[in-house]
Amino acid sequence: MIGQRETIKQVLEDGQYHCGTEFQKLFIPEYRTRINELRKNAGLIIEKRRCQQHKHKGVMQEWKLVGQKERSQMNTTAGLSDKACCASYIIFQIHERACQKATAPAKPTLF
Ligand SMILES: [Zn+2]
Repeated sequence: MIGQRETIKQVLEDGQYHCGTEFQKLFIPEYRTRINELRKNAGLIIEKRRCQQHKHKGVMQEWKLVGQKERSQMNTTAGLSDKACCASYIIFQIHERACQKATAPAKPTLF
């Protein structure tokens, strides 16, 4: 099963602006939250502007994938503090076996 974040990423990957209603049609009412997660967790650079494709009564935004941050860049900008849980993770991006985050569904532990 494909997660909602993955679905959103696939939609945005064509580099075009996608209106929020498109995500609603994909049954992702919390697309804003998911997009923020993609920014934070996957390092995706996603731009947002007021929708210019439709004439919405209220404010509706559209999103576009611009690029992706380098992993090294992510570490310095995106939440280093909550990732720096053990020395191994800082260096190898892999938790130490003793680390309490080691059970997170990340990569297999090598230590
Ligand atoms: Zn729209």
